[in-house]
Amino acid sequence: MRAQVLESFNKPYTFKSDHPSPPSPKGHELLIHVQAASYCHTDAVFASGAMQQGLPRIGSHEFAGIIDSFGPEAEKVAQKRGLKKGDLVGVPGRAFGPCGECTECVENDGDMPGYGVWCTRAGNLGLTRDGGFQEWCLVDSRQVAKVPEGGLKPVEIAPLMCAGVTVWNALETAGVSTAEGKGNGEAKFVAILGAGGGLGHLGVQFAARLGWNVVAVDTTGALGMLGDVVKDLGEDGKRVHVVDALKESVEDAKKRIFEAPAQGLEGEKGCDSSIILPESQAAFDFGMSVLKNHGTCVAVSFPKDGWKFKPGDLVFRHIKLLGVLVGRNHQLQAMVDFAAGHNVRARIKTYPLEGLNTLVEDYHKGAGGKLVVDMGLKQ
Ligand SMILES: [Zn+2]
Ligand SMILES: [Zn+2]
Repeated sequence: MRAQVLESFNKPYTFKSDHPSPPSPKGHELLIHVQAASYCHTDAVFASGAMQQGLPRIGSHEFAGIIDSFGPEAEKVAQKRGLKKGDLVGVPGRAFGPCGECTECVENDGDMPGYGVWCTRAGNLGLTRDGGFQEWCLVDSRQVAKVPEGGLKPVEIAPLMCAGVTVWNALETAGVSTAEGKGNGEAKFVAILGAGGGLGHLGVQFAARLGWNVVAVDTTGALGMLGDVVKDLGEDGKRVHVVDALKESVEDAKKRIFEAPAQGLEGEKGCDSSIILPESQAAFDFGMSVLKNHGTCVAVSFPKDGWKFKPGDLVFRHIKLLGVLVGRNHQLQAMVDFAAGHNVRARIKTYPLEGLNTLVEDYHKGAGGKLVVDMGLKQ
């Protein structure tokens, strides 16, 4: 089969036309015919050698494919979940073959019994096991997301499997109610730092569609694509306030978006929560300062050497600082269903599998949106 294999760190992927196909599925495994596979920042981090995991490896931990065959345990899971041969599913990287015994697996907030996405004994597709940059892949029947019929195309599903679920979890952690209709009418504000990036432009769409006001912060280069995203949101787009952080300070943005506070009550004006997506001190500072007192700051990314932060923000302003990493599988499914039903779509650029190294070059040049391998494209 065709596959792209990372054989050395800091080198391009090697294309193979005769890579061995995976064996028949065992246990909880499903064999998937991959249709589309998306590139994530973590793929770039892995390829740089910073994660100290083994090679060779086939990357991509956000992909979509068609179910071909089942291991014996997977057959039972499929019956319970209403999955059958020929169904299109979304595949996140986490968690392949969790142990079923640890606290993560047992206390899993309503995911399938014994299935914990943060089980440290589980494999991660695209990182510790082979992922989606190949024609066929073994995945765990418990990790996949069902795709509503007629809902989403494979190239649209793939970017939701890491970027989508991560930003969905960040929004829930930021206090955005993802139960349909619940957020409507509440005049609440979430700031999204890095709003024009892969996760950010999905987060803007989810938050606006869920009825929240969004302060969408990015820098000049990313704002063109963000403008198109806001336009496509129609009425919901009217709740999105775009800020170019190169041209407007956080103080000026607050003055423009919120009513002027009474003297001495400045802490009463600002966002209820903020989500930090870029690995930057400037984004973190903006995200903390844009909050009103008692607000919540949710970190998704951070610089290698960490941030400098003002403990006074936590103590005197009572800001809560939280972090998220991907999300539970019930969140993954809720996010896919919501995206299908409310026209939330990643801005994508597609490449054939043979063009993966061109995709990676474009990624490092700062291409906007999500870059996706479409297995159906011929070079
Ligand atoms: Zn990822
Ligand atoms: Zn476990």
